[in-house]
Amino acid sequence: MQPLSNLIAEGERLMVICNACRYCEGYCAVFPAMERRLNFSETDLNYLANLCHNCAECYYSCQYAPPHEFAVNVPQVFAQIRARSYQNYAWPGFVRVGAWWAVTAGIIVAAWLAGARSAAGANFYAVISHEAMVATFAFVSAFILAAYVAGFLRFWRESGESLARFFQPSTLLQAARDALWLKNLDSHGVGCTYPNQQHSQARRRFHHCTFYGFLLCLASTTVAAAYHSIFGWQAPHAYFSVPVVLGTLGGIGLLIGPVGLYWLKRRRDTAIVDIKQDSMDMSFLALLFLTSLTGLLLLALRETTAMGTLLRIHLGIVLGLFLTLPYGKFVHGIYRSAALVRSVLEASRGKD
Ligand code: SF4
Ligand code: SF4
Repeated sequence: MQPLSNLIAEGERLMVICNACRYCEGYCAVFPAMERRLNFSETDLNYLANLCHNCAECYYSCQYAPPHEFAVNVPQVFAQIRARSYQNYAWPGFVRVGAWWAVTAGIIVAAWLAGARSAAGANFYAVISHEAMVATFAFVSAFILAAYVAGFLRFWRESGESLARFFQPSTLLQAARDALWLKNLDSHGVGCTYPNQQHSQARRRFHHCTFYGFLLCLASTTVAAAYHSIFGWQAPHAYFSVPVVLGTLGGIGLLIGPVGLYWLKRRRDTAIVDIKQDSMDMSFLALLFLTSLTGLLLLALRETTAMGTLLRIHLGIVLGLFLTLPYGKFVHGIYRSAALVRSVLEASRGKD
């Protein structure tokens, strides 16, 4: 990774060139935000880099891209600045959780909670008690929520905007629509022919499978928790019950999405990405895939003697995934959403 001062200087150089050129001003939210500025501090570049979605349209359209002597490569430099920003805003700042350490720790915790117990007939709570599961995930969830809120507040503080403005419903709604629809990876209109378009659209589909698969799995867990605490209906639930259907659909999305994103990663143009982030990206995709795979295996084999072992492995991987969320690729969703809200606020004030 190049020194921070060099990276920021390079980002500033590119933005000065782009601000003079402005050919790409209609491509995404980055360029209008850039045009509202004359100078580009590290804070500005963190904001612009998190607005960028690495669609690369600006790179393929750029008359100053390599081999031109200006060597303008916005997506690659912004990818490097983004990776730095994840570290800058992470809380606690000294924590760096490697995926495989987190999974190992998760499996050890799950094995410790389960002890030597085994059970048949899909009786999960005979292996790990409901109280132990709830206490463990409540603790980990509280920690990652605190890490997210702290990271978000660090990012948002630099905008100079009040928190009240972030929570304006109309602004939030517009930013949420852009973030959830991945607007920058959408088709750029009839007749759009930029070379990365097919790759971007496939990326958008697999991203949707992953993201909405993750949300369905969360919904499944939430419904199951409500069943247990409100109605006293305990797992295992029937194969066609709401939590199992939601979890199965989510699990399928979480198998297809990460595999598709990995497949695209192998076919990408390495000129536009920061390949040093590959280990972070790949471990995140692998954890999502393994979470889903072990969850679906647990569902399929829950009546067999393999259930106890699968439950330990599945819960360990889920714990590992959760522990890494605030320190890896997943935080881009937080900072990108905050950057989109900021860009909507800036746009609503007009060019000042
Ligand atoms: S990326 Fe290239 S074409 Fe686009 S605004 Fe910048 S300098 Fe101009
Ligand atoms: S890579 Fe795409 S999202 Fe990023 S600045 Fe260029 S056009 Fe905008």
